[in-house]
Amino acid sequence: MNRIYLDHAATTPIRPEVIEAMQPFLNQYFGNPSSLHHFGKEALQAINEAREKVAHILGARPDEVVFVSGGTESDNLAIFGVAHANRDRGKHIITTQIEHYAVLEPCRFLEREGWKVTYLPVDRSGMVDPADIREAITDDTILISVMHANNEIGTIQPLKEIGTIAKERNIYFHTDAVQTFSHIPIDVNELHIDLLSFSGHKFYGPKGVGGLYVRKGTAISPYLHGGYQEFKLRAGTENVSGIVGVGKAVQLAMLEMDAQTAYIASMRDKLVKSLSEIEGIRLNGHQLHRLPNNINITVDLVDGEAMVIHLDFKGIAVSTGSSCTGATKGPSHVLTAIGLSYEDARSTLRITLGKNNRESEIDYFLEVFKDVLNNLRRMSPVYQEKKSGSR
Ligand SMILES: *Cc1c(COP(=O)(O)O)cnc(C)c1O
Repeated sequence: MNRIYLDHAATTPIRPEVIEAMQPFLNQYFGNPSSLHHFGKEALQAINEAREKVAHILGARPDEVVFVSGGTESDNLAIFGVAHANRDRGKHIITTQIEHYAVLEPCRFLEREGWKVTYLPVDRSGMVDPADIREAITDDTILISVMHANNEIGTIQPLKEIGTIAKERNIYFHTDAVQTFSHIPIDVNELHIDLLSFSGHKFYGPKGVGGLYVRKGTAISPYLHGGYQEFKLRAGTENVSGIVGVGKAVQLAMLEMDAQTAYIASMRDKLVKSLSEIEGIRLNGHQLHRLPNNINITVDLVDGEAMVIHLDFKGIAVSTGSSCTGATKGPSHVLTAIGLSYEDARSTLRITLGKNNRESEIDYFLEVFKDVLNNLRRMSPVYQEKKSGSR
């Protein structure tokens, strides 16, 4: 079957160039980067080259980049690391209701240990109001964590305003940039970011590797102990080939970012336009400040999971609200935070495009989607009732 992948927010395929760059570090240059001999030095040098590429794309210094096992570890390290290193300064953290669980769960864990956490609401488009952040700050606030772009609805937050407030008040500012790193330009100095999380498999790199940007001078504690790797912030022998893969993916993204964004956004716009012509479909997230590849729609009175499964029968891969909440039954916390009813949240579909998608695939998706929708609606008593006006 001809399969079409439209779920790039969940993960992306590794680029062939990245696989090629990684290959020698799995066999030929297999040394442990901590070893003093030739094999070790080759590996260490490869890691440092990748570190330079990551630093470059962020406008940072290489010694501010720490490689870890992915986005989840990066978020955990930022939150626990800053909380533990600054417990004498204060025990209050400000974040939002729409963060990824990799931020929310560490915050909840800290609450059980005596920290206070403010989870700020967002408006209907998924935007945080920087004025709310200003108001939530107390003398005890040590960290503000606001994601760059939301993985479900694509809304991009006003990081510069938030970063400016954090800087004025001498509070650390962390952002989960897993959905934006190597997709849209980020300058950590311009945005006043102190800590930034990214993950290899979200930008055509390998899974199980990512990193945390940590501004020089940030007080942060490691939570893995037992080795001096990664500036003593992340013990354990490095994932050398993975890190090399991240470096290669970043290097390619630097060259192609602008053209790719334009290409993907043009497909997105076309798809949004066609979808909005179908009865009972609403676009979630912000109209302007959104990821170029994200489309999140509520389809009136049609179950999201049913749509995903029926589309999959036809070879099309999309997602309900979020890949992470897919397994748990409750409605997505992001969709309820933007004011969707449980019913609407369950009738939601996320389509996320990638650089390898073609216009013909978008056309095919539309054709199949309309069929699936008509079938599901025909079978839905609720929809039929509503349509006949008896509801
Ligand atoms: C995917 C994702 C993560 C988790 O990254 P992993 O590398 O899969 O652990 C965290 N935050 C956001 C916004 C994500 O999209």
